[in-house]
Amino acid sequence: MQHFPVFLDLADRMVVIAGCGEFALAKLRLLLKTDAKLTVIATAPEPDLAALIQAEGVTLIQRPARPADLTGAALAYGAHGTAAEDAAFAAMARAEGVLVNIVDNLEASQFITPAIVDRDPVTVAIGTEGAAPVLARAIKTDLEATLSPGLGALARAGKRFRPHAEALPFGRRRRDFWSEFYFDTGPQVLAEVGEELLEHVLHDMLRRHLAAEDPEGRVDLVGAGPGDPELMTQRARRLLDLADVVIHDRLVPEAILELARREALFIAVGKEGFGPSTPQDEINAQMIHHAQNGALVVRLKGGDASIFGRLDEETQALTEAGVDWAVTPGITAASAAAAAIGRSLTQRGRNSDLRILTGHDIQGFADHDWHTLAAPGAVAAIYMGKRAARYWQGRLLMHGADGATPVTLVENASRPDQRIITTTLDRLTADLAQAAPSGPVLTLFGLAPARAAATLPTLLEEFA
Ligand code: SAH
Repeated sequence: MQHFPVFLDLADRMVVIAGCGEFALAKLRLLLKTDAKLTVIATAPEPDLAALIQAEGVTLIQRPARPADLTGAALAYGAHGTAAEDAAFAAMARAEGVLVNIVDNLEASQFITPAIVDRDPVTVAIGTEGAAPVLARAIKTDLEATLSPGLGALARAGKRFRPHAEALPFGRRRRDFWSEFYFDTGPQVLAEVGEELLEHVLHDMLRRHLAAEDPEGRVDLVGAGPGDPELMTQRARRLLDLADVVIHDRLVPEAILELARREALFIAVGKEGFGPSTPQDEINAQMIHHAQNGALVVRLKGGDASIFGRLDEETQALTEAGVDWAVTPGITAASAAAAAIGRSLTQRGRNSDLRILTGHDIQGFADHDWHTLAAPGAVAAIYMGKRAARYWQGRLLMHGADGATPVTLVENASRPDQRIITTTLDRLTADLAQAAPSGPVLTLFGLAPARAAATLPTLLEEFA
């Protein structure tokens, strides 16, 4: 983003437009929508421009621009339409420290004026950094058709009413009030009766909303998938969009958290690698506290919530506290890793079962587990297996596993920095030490990539 969009307060600020013809006229028309103090510098204004200047009481300076004309101006527009005059004006404005725009000349401009859809006080600004004015116009036409002309009236009434609405508690109650006004009651009243009744309706609505009972809070335990926002379910996206509070694992990347409302409260919990972790009781207490205050809480977990996510501990605590909850499944890391290497996790004649294990508390595994896993064709998806690699490598070899069994480690599966490390059981610890992955790693024991790792492009590389 080379140009950063902002809305500039021009009330009583000076804006200077230099030029005599149609370019200056177009800018003047646009700027007359604001409360700026306008000055036009034009040696010989054309008739239309002169007429508008007179009708609107705009200050006119009928000689070439001087630096002092620009003192204290917020913005300056060079609209002569001739390169030499505009360049001289731009240099003068820059020297005076005034932001300058040269009509139809992106390079010479310090700011650009977007295409505007005007439903004052609702303003939509569309910019393409000068790349595609045709596209900007098409988007504007679309929006002009979609945004009802009454939107401005609703927003004006809404703005005046804001101090009253503060009687409702901040958060969901206040948001429910405004969504009823903007999307339901407001447009209806506007269409059937008219703008003059909006304020009355707002007072009515406020009485009703103040008398209503607190809405019930709840907790949705949501699987966010392995990291790529495209691999989330539609329900996960919708719940995130509604959430007042998002309690998320540190594994969940920024690109997914950005899908939640900006005003939502974000609480990062859980473990960072083998670093400090939030105690489970503390996570439970946070969920219960916010839900009991009427919030829609999303407990966002990496991958699928039901795999190494301590789901039952959390749902049990919620049930005991009498909080309503539901689970939304997600794509687990094993599925993402299998997709990355283009292999099936099960295969007729090779493995009709799939083992999902964790390297973390692997000490607890019974001997016959190792024995079954050591058999030819066995496949396991090992979570959190980085640190324990030497341990399970030793166990499997001891139980007779073939040292040549393929092992594939997928780091950051589905993310832009995805990496595939291919090795065998024999070479596992040596190759792992050499690759030194720093991100989360899913180990697929018994599977090699469908194609040689070197030729396996990640999605991003393919489209770069
Ligand atoms: N509930 C999660 C797993 C949580 S345990 C799921 O269903 O995927 C955390 C472990 O998951 C990590 O140590 C790593 O082994 C694995 N993991 C999670 N996301 C991953 C990713 N994008 N790439 C590779 N491994 C991942």
